[in-house]
Amino acid sequence: MPAQLISGTQLSQSLRADVAKRAAALAARGKQPGLAVILVGDDPASHVYVRNKVKACADVGFHSVFEKYESTLSEAELLKKIDALNRDPLIHGILVQMPLPKHIDPHKVIESIATNKDVDGYSVLSAGELLTGLPGFRPCTPYGCMKLIESTGYDLRGKHAVVVGRSNTVGKPMALLLLQANATVTICHSGTPDLAYHTRQADVIVAAVGRRNTVTADMIKPGAVVIDVGMNRDDNGKLCGDVDFANAKEVAGYITPVPGGVGPMTITMLLVNTIEAAERT
Ligand code: NAP
Repeated sequence: MPAQLISGTQLSQSLRADVAKRAAALAARGKQPGLAVILVGDDPASHVYVRNKVKACADVGFHSVFEKYESTLSEAELLKKIDALNRDPLIHGILVQMPLPKHIDPHKVIESIATNKDVDGYSVLSAGELLTGLPGFRPCTPYGCMKLIESTGYDLRGKHAVVVGRSNTVGKPMALLLLQANATVTICHSGTPDLAYHTRQADVIVAAVGRRNTVTADMIKPGAVVIDVGMNRDDNGKLCGDVDFANAKEVAGYITPVPGGVGPMTITMLLVNTIEAAERT
């Protein structure tokens, strides 16, 4: 039987409707949630991401500030801009779009964002909060993946989850969130000798690699939950994930499509983190 699709587009709609309701409730008390998005340089993909984030803010009734700077902006100048936003009472979340130009240290920039405005959840403190199970901002993409799994009613307790990829922004926090949900977690990476050996034992696979067809149908246990974070282009230039979707959907129990799976959830969870930041202050 073909897999059930987990639609990030649909889930996003309901989560964003809830965010909009909460934003309206705050606005009625005189506080409009505010997100600041900073873009440095001319990376075309970053422009698209930032535009989508700013539009998503408007759609749920947030105030948003979009600050765009030339790629020649110095690190010191950028840190000064962030400092001003840290002090701005109308701003509850700050996001600096990555990648930054080479002369700017991304770690320094991330650490300069006030912890209570770190809605991307990338700072060392936010990572530590996740590691130790303290409340805090969870990185938006893995947080969205968890919501997608939760939306199916699937119980992760005692299940074997295999995360393919170990980046600080996706793979590692994903593994920690799955662990927190009491799954038994395996993390695979480019040095894993036999990826298929691990994925074939998985009740849940999260693929976050950035290479299409990394996970093929023969690597999936029948009935498994497959979450595809990858964003790649096929030979025709069409967006595709890391999973061979056409064949994998015949084996998996649940699967996310690309597009329309994890992608919309990332921005949705940014909105969720921002409304929480606004509600907390
Ligand atoms: P990344 O920083 O490049 O990390 C990729 C990971 O994949 C690394 O840990 C790497 O291992 C591992 N890897 C590479 N080749 C492998 C192989 N053959 N077998 C097993 N593991 C392998 O990428 P990322 O930022 O985590 O993003 C991953 C993908 O998700 C990309 O396509 C990105 O565009 C997409 N993404 C999508 C969203 C969304 O909203 N949908 C958000 C973020 C990212 P090593 O550590 O050993 O190098």
